[in-house]
Amino acid sequence: MDRTGFAPVASRMRNGHSATELPAHAKAFILDFLKISKMADRLIFLGSGGSRVVVATQVVATGGFIIQLGHHQIWIDPGPGALVRAKECKVRASDTDIIFCSHHHIDHSNDINAVIDAMTIGGIRQKGVLISTKTTIEGADDNGPILLNFYKKSLKETYPLAPGDSVKIGDLTFIATPTDHDCDAIGLRLETPYGAIGFTSDTAYSPKLAEALKGCTILIADVLRPGNEKWKTHMNSANVAELFKEAKPRIGIITAFGMKLLKANPAWEARDIQKESNVTVYAAREGLKIDLKTLMVS
Ligand SMILES: [Zn+2]
Repeated sequence: MDRTGFAPVASRMRNGHSATELPAHAKAFILDFLKISKMADRLIFLGSGGSRVVVATQVVATGGFIIQLGHHQIWIDPGPGALVRAKECKVRASDTDIIFCSHHHIDHSNDINAVIDAMTIGGIRQKGVLISTKTTIEGADDNGPILLNFYKKSLKETYPLAPGDSVKIGDLTFIATPTDHDCDAIGLRLETPYGAIGFTSDTAYSPKLAEALKGCTILIADVLRPGNEKWKTHMNSANVAELFKEAKPRIGIITAFGMKLLKANPAWEARDIQKESNVTVYAAREGLKIDLKTLMVS
């Protein structure tokens, strides 16, 4: 032994062990640790804001959210500032291989080209797919496309979907859900080995929305206004309570807050929705994480 208490490598080798060989229990610990790291399937919010005033002021971020699952990193609705928020939340943008963009409004689509640039090393390495609407990918009715031609070529595939369409990638199935918004928009029901993750996108409430998102494990709902304050193309807190009551997710998350909802306090709105729907509800915030295996929220 030297003065540090560690046996020198040479003496360990004399005892019949090579310098790189580890005792069985240490090997098992490291293998277990690597397994745990690989199994850290989770959802991370890079923003909780929506609407024009919140985008312009960035009082809360508009980066969308990330699902890390198996070997996939899925980026949902990368709005303005998405790359900056990813860095703040220690998410490597270059690991992304699937982008889902619900519609072409700027708070949902602004940074799709920037994310593709990051994941394809400036367009050099062809990689990944974009799942979105026809307007976002190809342009329609004087709107879009949002996806630049250069970055379209650097993706492996693009999938323009309408409600009811689906795309299967490995053991994941992306199903486009219906919306009542003021443009070509889709929500998402993502079927995973942990159950379904639902995302309403911007939409008014309708029974068909609740039907499409019924039984999701996690249901993420965009909510613009607090209480029962009406806005015809978006949900308020009362609408989300109705949705959660009908769809019965194990966990409900509210996000994409407008300024009035932020002033009312998202945590209190979540509490009211929980009381009304009898579903556990959290308000999204930058850095909020959900472990997909255990549903632990941190
Ligand atoms: Zn919108």
